[in-house]
Amino acid sequence: MDDPQADRSIVPSQGVHIVLDREFLQGDAAIMIPKTSDGRVLFAVPWHDKVVVGTTDTLVENESLEPRALDEEIDFILNTASLYLTRKPSRGDVKSIFAGLRPLTATNNKQTKDISRSHKILVSLSGLITVVGGKWTTYRKMGEDVIDRAVMVGNLPERSSVTKQLPIHGAIELEDVDDPLYFYGSDRKYIEEIIQEDETLAEKIHPSLNVIKAEVVWAARAEMARTVEDVLARRTRALFLDAAASIQMAPLVAQLLAKVLAHNESWQQQQIADYTQLANGYRLL
Ligand SMILES: Cc1cc2nc3c(=O)[nH]c(=O)nc-3n(C[C@H](O)[C@H](O)[C@H](O)COP(=O)(O)OP(=O)(O)OC[C@H]3O[C@@H](n4cnc5c(N)ncnc54)[C@H](O)[C@@H]3O)c2cc1C
Repeated sequence: MDDPQADRSIVPSQGVHIVLDREFLQGDAAIMIPKTSDGRVLFAVPWHDKVVVGTTDTLVENESLEPRALDEEIDFILNTASLYLTRKPSRGDVKSIFAGLRPLTATNNKQTKDISRSHKILVSLSGLITVVGGKWTTYRKMGEDVIDRAVMVGNLPERSSVTKQLPIHGAIELEDVDDPLYFYGSDRKYIEEIIQEDETLAEKIHPSLNVIKAEVVWAARAEMARTVEDVLARRTRALFLDAAASIQMAPLVAQLLAKVLAHNESWQQQQIADYTQLANGYRLL
């Protein structure tokens, strides 16, 4: 947008993950399958009472905001994983399926799995600084490189970083991953205070997922959750753990949000409809 003539600087590469019940994985350790039929690696990683299996690497020509898994990606994951799991998973066993796009830095004519996953920093003539590509595990290095470049380009005063020793949200201190407040790390004491205000908020929203009502109240009061999707996709991970269960949770989540945020009945109905439509895309129907 800064330079309408600029070459496209990323290649979107789609990756799909599926979530299965934990019983498909033998033991507590993650599995990494280093060689698969098409040369990719595949992971099966325990996550709460589920297991996440993925991923794929598919060049995408027309990217969308809600990318969808292709049939061949689903077949590849299910077939490859079946060789290493306790039994062969069928499509009906998939609790949630989600696709993401890796914003890989563009290079000519390479297969996406061969394109570098490292990041690149671009500075345009106007001085706009752009960081493309990169990974979660390198986020701090990406940040450091961008700040260093900004200091140089903008002639800013040099200062020492304060983030290098910063703990990530305290979640690492928690050991019991089946604890409903696991996601909240250092915020859990505030959620416990909410439960003291009203004991019914300690109730689970759905029997098969560890999410309690007080988490919704906390998300709305303190974490800027404004929609049912904010709560079920991003503040908790219900959508990714069990999409069908998360749809059943939507009415109660809408009701709890409406109370904190002063919304009416028609807002709740619209929220439930919007969320159901989104979450249906995470089910293998
Ligand atoms: C398939 C795949 C596999 C990957 N594998 C690895 C790996 O093995 N190792 C690794 O280090 N990295 C990996 N990555 C990269 C890693 O996932 C990203 O680097 C990381 O998630 C980026 O974090 P982020 O917080 O910047 O953005 P995101 O994780 O994308 O978070 C952005 C959030 O903002 C939300 N959002 C967007 N717009 C709005 C809006 N308008 N209102 C409210 N919310 C909004 C989105 O829903 C999303 O939750 C992988 C990526 C993909 C797609």
